[in-house]
Amino acid sequence: MADCDLCGVARPTLCPVKVNAPGVKTAYPTGTWRGICQECLSSCHEANLNRVQVNGAEKCDLCGIRNVPLFQVTVHVPIFQQPYRRELNKAICGDCFEACEETLRRREAEKEVAHH
Ligand SMILES: [Zn+2]
Ligand SMILES: [Zn+2]
Repeated sequence: MADCDLCGVARPTLCPVKVNAPGVKTAYPTGTWRGICQECLSSCHEANLNRVQVNGAEKCDLCGIRNVPLFQVTVHVPIFQQPYRRELNKAICGDCFEACEETLRRREAEKEVAHH
């Protein structure tokens, strides 16, 4: 089990998303990997299709970049009481959206290969 970097929920498998995290730029100049769950990946995809800019968010919740336009992503976190899930608003930058799309495309390509 590993914790999703976006919603924080522990999942058996996470999808790797490559981000350019400014905080570790010197150590990883070509980018570093974040692991997000399937649900968050679809949420990011949805949010990217219909971008809603967030005002007041300080930094991207995935890569930590500051002073760039951020967009709202709503993720669902399971809880132990009614209604058993809670909405959580996250702020993601355009670059991370692209990285999520890239991961989705890669997954699709892998599925194609598995079919043949
Ligand atoms: Zn998640
Ligand atoms: Zn980002």
